[in-house]
Amino acid sequence: MKKELTCVACPLGCQITVEYNGEEVISVTGNTCKRGDAYARTEIVNPTRSLTTTVKVDGGVHPVVPAKSSKPVPKSMMFDCMKVINAASVTAPVTIGQVLIPDILGTGADIVATNND
Ligand code: SF4
Repeated sequence: MKKELTCVACPLGCQITVEYNGEEVISVTGNTCKRGDAYARTEIVNPTRSLTTTVKVDGGVHPVVPAKSSKPVPKSMMFDCMKVINAASVTAPVTIGQVLIPDILGTGADIVATNND
């Protein structure tokens, strides 16, 4: 079967066609660089997404601090990751770049503060 994708690895947004048999990728066409090939294969076999969110702060200037994942997490785990994040809280002060939740659900991605509070 074939699937059409728009590569999001850079602003060019190449239209990529992936042919796969349900288990593995057979061919990738339409990409103009290797990053597109890698993106397409990951998107078919194990789609991932960067996670942008907020984490509760106790005793801070604001009730929450913006945060993001240090690397993309499996799309299938986004909902469970958000449950962990929504249940978490950290104590002020929080500094930009601080790891708020290490290795969330064993994904290897840390949830990191993107601002101070
Ligand atoms: S295939 Fe390469 S050039 Fe095209 S959008 Fe993806 S990263 Fe950019």
